[in-house]
Amino acid sequence: MSHNEVIVGIDLGTTNSEVAALVGDRPRVLGPVDTKMLPSCVGFSPQGQLLIGEAARNQLLVYPEMTVRSVKRKMGTDERFEIGNKTFTPPEISAFILRELVQWAQQELHAEVTKAVITVPAYFSDAQRQATREAGQIAGLEVVRILNEPTAASLAYGFGDDAHRTAMVYDLGGGTFDVSIVSIESDVTEVLASHGNNSLGGDDFDHLILDRLLREFQTRHGVDLRDRSPVSYARLRWAAEEAKKRLSSEQYTRVREEALATAPDGKSLHLDLELSRQEYEAMIRSLVESTLESVFQTIEDAGKQPADIDVILLVGGSTRTPLVREMLEEHVGAPVRQDIHPDLCVALGAGLLASRLAGHDVDRVLVDVSPYSFGPSHLGIVDGEPYPYCYRPIIKRNTPLPVTRTERYFTAAPYQKVIEVSVFQGDDSDALRNILVGNFTVEGLTPVAEGNEVLCRMGLDLDGILKVEAVEKRTGLSKHIMIKDAIKPKSEAALAQARSRLRRLYSGRLDVTEAAWEDGPQTSLEPASDTSQATQMTQADPEMDAVVAAAHRLIERSRQLLAGIHNEDKEEIIDLHEKIQEAIDTSDRQALSTGVDALQELLFFIEGK
Ligand code: AMP
Repeated sequence: MSHNEVIVGIDLGTTNSEVAALVGDRPRVLGPVDTKMLPSCVGFSPQGQLLIGEAARNQLLVYPEMTVRSVKRKMGTDERFEIGNKTFTPPEISAFILRELVQWAQQELHAEVTKAVITVPAYFSDAQRQATREAGQIAGLEVVRILNEPTAASLAYGFGDDAHRTAMVYDLGGGTFDVSIVSIESDVTEVLASHGNNSLGGDDFDHLILDRLLREFQTRHGVDLRDRSPVSYARLRWAAEEAKKRLSSEQYTRVREEALATAPDGKSLHLDLELSRQEYEAMIRSLVESTLESVFQTIEDAGKQPADIDVILLVGGSTRTPLVREMLEEHVGAPVRQDIHPDLCVALGAGLLASRLAGHDVDRVLVDVSPYSFGPSHLGIVDGEPYPYCYRPIIKRNTPLPVTRTERYFTAAPYQKVIEVSVFQGDDSDALRNILVGNFTVEGLTPVAEGNEVLCRMGLDLDGILKVEAVEKRTGLSKHIMIKDAIKPKSEAALAQARSRLRRLYSGRLDVTEAAWEDGPQTSLEPASDTSQATQMTQADPEMDAVVAAAHRLIERSRQLLAGIHNEDKEEIIDLHEKIQEAIDTSDRQALSTGVDALQELLFFIEGK
């Protein structure tokens, strides 16, 4: 093929689609500046105007019957879509999406695009592959190759050497889950086994949050939005997905939706609720666990053992959920890579192959990642002793940029009013062996007897600016610093300077802090003058976390009873829910146990009736 020919790579996804092509000497995902992902939605406005992508997705809320989503699931079937007075086949709907992507590519490349590599799941049948080719033809494209998605993902990761590797490609998208074991040797990637569940994905996570929101609204206002208002229901569904995405980087998120319904007295009814990552993870845990069954089945089908897996590649937007990575690391044991944007990875791999087929000598894709890990130090236990310079990164090396992540910490001493946040660059679990990149003090914390929760949020952008913010959860009191050039390699001189600054800063404090702990950690609830001066913070309290999780389960159980019980009992339950929530919000362990005990007793009484 000629060198000037443009071939694009297209990931025609269930939820979103992307296009990639060679720009300069590397494949890049193309599209408008703010978004490179085209929602795989097609619709017509009531005025008959064709809508593709974001516009169609927005219209889903108000005219679901005029909009098609998830057409990929129907490829290769005889199903027809009726929109207004027109009828479309699945390839015809997909062709609209392809056309829009080609438009994006042409605009950015300033060249005509007539050829494409299109990816499909490894399990797609001949009929489904044929339907995909047909979609390309309808869109005016010559489909030069149909490429398996796991192969595309492993091409994107292009390991840069000739070693043989067995990789697992774990792909969790919006509506589908696939896992494949691939064998990679130089340029040849072979899919050894593949398993899928095409009715499992991020949409299911959204539904669990949506149920939680609907129940909350019903408990508060006695209105079931499911049958009252399709528009409010759709708004909540949207809010649930947005909340889910925020919980991938935040520990808490607030869902506020105004005027969802009108009370009989004409007042507007709102929803205002805080969700924690912990509560969300408890909701989705069994779904994530169910993917592990497929994982082990696929490993077995490929004739391999978990120990044979050299690397796990995460693909699909839903693998941004931290629990997914944690569970894979824990249960499969192989290193997990996520350093290529999981939702762009397949398109990049397709773009890479497309570039090669067009005659270009390309070996790697290009993504911006953080070359270092960053995090704050905290008080922890080392060899049974309290140690003030424990360290765990919040932003890990090789995370794609930009990135924001939040972790929970607790004040270390009773009635502590000040925390000092020291930010380090490095991976050593001893902060003092990493590089100090900045520190700041937060004063004026609410003095509480135990465990005041402080959120530490770190954001790193493409320009290498690191923003670190500490926020007192109960009041929102916050302070931050900006560190410029955080990802620029430091010169030897700068490193030496950073190290000596660190030594100076800590040499005095080490002795002071150790002295404060001489009689073991202070746990007294009384204000103690020595510890109220403490400036340390500790990591999340696992015991408290377990109590909170149990309390949430109890609240869920009791919510399910609300519909069928006496008004007096209902009021008492809601009252206890509020007390428990307040105890969780203020980390008041005593009040939490009292509330949980009372609710347990009441449930025992009601369930026995
Ligand atoms: P895909 O089919 O690969 O485009 O993935 C789409 C799915 O990824 C949708 O369910 C999205 O809600 C989900 N998703 C996108 N971003 C995030 C995020 N930051 N955290 C969790 N899920 C996400």
